[in-house]
Amino acid sequence: SQRHWQSTWSEAEVRQAARDHAMLTWSGCSAIDSLPILERAEGVYVYDTTGKKYLDWTSEAVCVNLGHTVPESVKEAMVQQMEQTPFVYGGIGFVPVRAQLAALLAELAPGDLNGFLFPSSGSEANDCAIRLARLYTGKTKIFNQYRSYHGGTLAPLGATGDFRRRFAQDSATGFVKMFNPEPHYFRWGDTDERACEMALACLEEQIVAEGPSTIAAIMVESIPGSAGVLIPAVGFMEGIRSLCNQYEILMICDEVMTGFGRTGELFGFQHFDGVIPDIVTSAKGLTGSWQPLSMVGVRQKLKDFFFDKATGWGSTFQAHPVAMACGYASLKYMLDQKLLTHVQTVIQPIMIEELDRLVSKYDFVKQARCVGAFGCLDLIDPQTGERVMQLGEPLTKEMQIFKKAFNNEGLIGFLRPPQVHCAPPLIISEGELRDGFQRLDRALNVLQTSFQDVEKLNKVDSDDMILTW
Ligand code: PLP
Repeated sequence: SQRHWQSTWSEAEVRQAARDHAMLTWSGCSAIDSLPILERAEGVYVYDTTGKKYLDWTSEAVCVNLGHTVPESVKEAMVQQMEQTPFVYGGIGFVPVRAQLAALLAELAPGDLNGFLFPSSGSEANDCAIRLARLYTGKTKIFNQYRSYHGGTLAPLGATGDFRRRFAQDSATGFVKMFNPEPHYFRWGDTDERACEMALACLEEQIVAEGPSTIAAIMVESIPGSAGVLIPAVGFMEGIRSLCNQYEILMICDEVMTGFGRTGELFGFQHFDGVIPDIVTSAKGLTGSWQPLSMVGVRQKLKDFFFDKATGWGSTFQAHPVAMACGYASLKYMLDQKLLTHVQTVIQPIMIEELDRLVSKYDFVKQARCVGAFGCLDLIDPQTGERVMQLGEPLTKEMQIFKKAFNNEGLIGFLRPPQVHCAPPLIISEGELRDGFQRLDRALNVLQTSFQDVEKLNKVDSDDMILTW
């Protein structure tokens, strides 16, 4: 009808068209009704059509690292690219910014990570990494952790351990799952040291049982993110690196969420002594998510191997000129603004202090973890001491109340109980960050009351039953 060509739409028209024609990813389309319509964003805030202002508490999907205001230098770089060569297919020509971005990344990345490809999403980057590892080694199996997410396309979905994301689509083959030495719910031993030792011993046993000659790579998130910021015990990542060396297996680090300053380093693996993966993938923060762009970085031996061999991985939009111009300018902005130092010296100390305060204040906040601007707390039921809800369940009534309170307090972000992620944009100021924690504290206060107030629980509106993330 005519209305689809109208220049302005009312909120009701947007909602109607969304309900009739749009489809969602991690929930059914009916969830559209419970989503705010966001029409403006600035700095660390987003605004909905009612004028409500939300502090972006998880940088959208831990990706809008540089906030919601695109710096002039980035806009100019993108406009210039659009005016010069808005699109060139990578197999037909080569734009200068592709070489510039690759060279800048080679300069910044540690060790001999010297070759770079530029797909469009984190999923594609991981798909590409899996393919490169298989081609390079001539082997097939890829080891991944249960508590992991590697992407929504089929091979990365096969690599993904988090069953909530797999939707019964395990058609990609060749993935073997291993346990994280995660000391938070399931313990391998009484101390982190023991847990790490046990997990590595078990992994070695698995490698031997599967046959090292069949294993192409061990692929891990350096710090599993959506599983709950599971910072590995000291020695675990180092142990994986040395098992990979011993059994001639490649190590792949998925830095899609942790890359580009989220943890206070360029890449999360830089927190672990001497660990340099053979292949590293990243996305999200590379362009601050203002353009879809990801990267796959490989060490010199792989770069050499593929120098006169096709990788066979590609898509029309890989190495998109405007996205790369955005990535190059965003990276320079991140360096100019010394954002890694800001994360290390301003954000991390406040986050650790505030998270610890919440752990001591509420008996149902069991523990918290934080590295850089990457934090998470775990909720338990104060009566049973068990996690507040099981993974993959629809939101419990208490969690619906918490979600509502979270939004009422003007916070927005993804919520994956029993975890509450805290991952604001890296540009957040001290005042904004403290304010965010005050809001979170007030929302947790509401949750505390709800644990005690059964009557209130019964009044929960069924519209709030929807889990949108
Ligand atoms: N890997 C990790 C660790 C992620 O967190 C994500 C997304 O959240 C992905 C891969 C998939 O990236 P994308 O959604 O850009 O395809």
